[in-house]
Amino acid sequence: GKEAGRGGYAFFEQQMYVDAEDYRSLENDVRNALSSDGLALHYQPIIDSRTGKLVGREALLRWSHPVRGPIPPDQFVPIIEDAGLIHQIGDWVIREACSEAIHWPGEMRVAVNVSAAQLSGPGIAETVLGALASTGLAPGRLELEVTESIFIGDDVSTLAALERLRAIGVRLVLDDFGKGYSSFGYLSRAHFSKIKIDRSFVHGAAEGERDCSAIVRAILALARGLSVETTAEGVENEREAAVMRALGCDQLQGYLFGRPVPATDLIDEQDLVDLH
Ligand code: C2E
Ligand code: CA
Ligand code: CA
Ligand code: CA
Repeated sequence: GKEAGRGGYAFFEQQMYVDAEDYRSLENDVRNALSSDGLALHYQPIIDSRTGKLVGREALLRWSHPVRGPIPPDQFVPIIEDAGLIHQIGDWVIREACSEAIHWPGEMRVAVNVSAAQLSGPGIAETVLGALASTGLAPGRLELEVTESIFIGDDVSTLAALERLRAIGVRLVLDDFGKGYSSFGYLSRAHFSKIKIDRSFVHGAAEGERDCSAIVRAILALARGLSVETTAEGVENEREAAVMRALGCDQLQGYLFGRPVPATDLIDEQDLVDLH
């Protein structure tokens, strides 16, 4: 059930030490994982809220440590960044996701998470161009998900990278919207194709919490005004799906429709998912 949540990670969280030696060894382990096929992408379905059809999948990075078992990306992405490996691993993620998505039907999109560090460094546009060229994936089928953290510090090179990516024709997505300190102002800083509404608001709106409903309505109205698509994140039950659909959210994503699974387990979810 949903209470299990990220239960697969419980072991690591209990074992999480913060001493420096331990951290060093994790840095080495992740470096080895990159060169020994130890990293994988799992894919989670994204559903059109009106038709119930599968319209895309989000690629989520997985690392199963040989001794500690699965470690959540929230914990190892910062380690990757500290180890100076974010460009190497981030590039691998983009290439891997594009090579997988080219096997999917028609217009189905693949979404890839990109961290602030990846954008501020050199070369992400070249990586994307290379991945699209070598796989033949149409640029419009690739979505790059970024969070508001990319705007902190007002980095000119970050905005330039976003603009280059958009010019290539890939879709920029603002992730976790509503969480933290996200401001409507960020939407004017880059040309986003989509906003993902953080699951705390999806949950709150479905529970009838008035502030959450008001915020979700405001986000959806704003998105409509800007002609930006919307996805509700963390949809875990029928009630959340029904509320977000009724409010006019374009797409739904969450455990209700499917957990992230390895590419080898991707069956034709299009046949299984039907909201109506
Ligand atoms: P995110 O981009 O917001 O991804 C959504 C997270 O919510 C994923 O956690 C997903 O497994 C989880 N999730 C999906 N549906 C539900 C649901 O119904 N209920 C709940 N409670 N959770 C749900 P995950 O895979 O642990 O990833 C955590 C974060 O790690 C991601 O958050 C993203 O910020 C980061 N991340 C994942 N893959 C990558 C990557 O390749 N590169 C970078 N830079 N960051 C990544
Ligand atoms: Ca994401
Ligand atoms: Ca998110
Ligand atoms: Ca997140």
